[in-house]
Amino acid sequence: MRKTGSYRTKSLPLVSRLFLSHLLVMIVGVSSFVIISKLSSPRFFVLHLQQLEGRGFSLVYARPYLVKGFETAWNRSTFWSVIVGATAAGGLSYWVSRRIVQPLTQIEKVTQKFAAGHLDERLPPSEIPEINQLATSFNRMAVSLEDVEHRRRELVSDLTHELRTPLTVLRGYLEELAASRIEATPDVYQRLAKETRRLERLINDLQELSKAEAGYLPINLQPVNLRPLLESLVQKFADQLLDDGPQLRLDCPPQLPLVLADIDRVEQVLVNLLGNAITYTKEGSITVRVWTASETGKAIAPRLWIAITDTGIGISPQDLPQVFERFWRAEKSRNQHTGGTGIGLAISQRLVELQGGEIEVESQVGVGSTFRFYLPLA
Ligand code: ADP
Repeated sequence: MRKTGSYRTKSLPLVSRLFLSHLLVMIVGVSSFVIISKLSSPRFFVLHLQQLEGRGFSLVYARPYLVKGFETAWNRSTFWSVIVGATAAGGLSYWVSRRIVQPLTQIEKVTQKFAAGHLDERLPPSEIPEINQLATSFNRMAVSLEDVEHRRRELVSDLTHELRTPLTVLRGYLEELAASRIEATPDVYQRLAKETRRLERLINDLQELSKAEAGYLPINLQPVNLRPLLESLVQKFADQLLDDGPQLRLDCPPQLPLVLADIDRVEQVLVNLLGNAITYTKEGSITVRVWTASETGKAIAPRLWIAITDTGIGISPQDLPQVFERFWRAEKSRNQHTGGTGIGLAISQRLVELQGGEIEVESQVGVGSTFRFYLPLA
């Protein structure tokens, strides 16, 4: 187990420190008041009596009594003022100290619970602005940690599920072969190789996705002209299409503005989108359309949009929100033979986002799908 650093010291707790500091301020204030007034008040009083005598009042006999009376009155009232004032100030200081320390104690409790795995713990708002700011930051961090933890659990469970299928098939065949219940034909080996390839692809895709999600994927943003890349990709994919398959077209203006992007990552996204379009389109057309847009009136930087529209099987409205989720495939059994892992679009989305863009989809079952993304202009 990892040792967590604890910084408990034997010094006084904050509430006592605050209280004592208030007390010290009060003692200094009261003492200076008492000392100064003790020294100066009788002198002022005597001075006042002398002024009265100067105006013709005869105070010769009364003077010692008056001075004595003044001192007694001063001593008594000062004594009671100090007692009442000190008690009130002490009480108030204790109350204020507790009010400052209480949210801090609560923060400590909540962070301890959070560290112990209660990721839904949150700090309540505080009326002290600085502590409220701390609580807001803590809560923001808690939400993001909870999200990461949730996604980690989801990934592990999805991964187990995805790995199980090819492994079960492999084990099944190997056991049958070992028991000589099936013949070791080239077809059997082909199937074994196919499942192994599937595992390999899954691991590669996952590695790429985890790098992209963690932000470790190096993205080398540069001003690039995407037209040559689009032309060569469309050409390459068109060569692979059968005569009775869909038509692949590029609808792109001859002069494209430069975009700020990593050309290899854009190619990765386009290969995935074009690959999907070809896999899910039996006939009709696949069009790659490129255009520039800047939303007038809004402070939005001009962008280059690339859309891949197919006339394929389409995606149902309830499935659309899931297409960019990793491992998601429509009707998994149908897709089993396509060899898809359901990670391609998740990687594409992350790659587009890492380049400052966004990807979206529109689709209608039986009509076709449009996947489009934008990249910022250089
Ligand atoms: P993969 O293609 O490897 O299965 P993706 O993440 O690229 O994974 O795609 C996820 C799923 O989205 C696919 O399995 C498919 O069901 C659906 N899909 C993607 N592109 C299209 C498309 N152009 N037309 C219809 N369905 C699509």
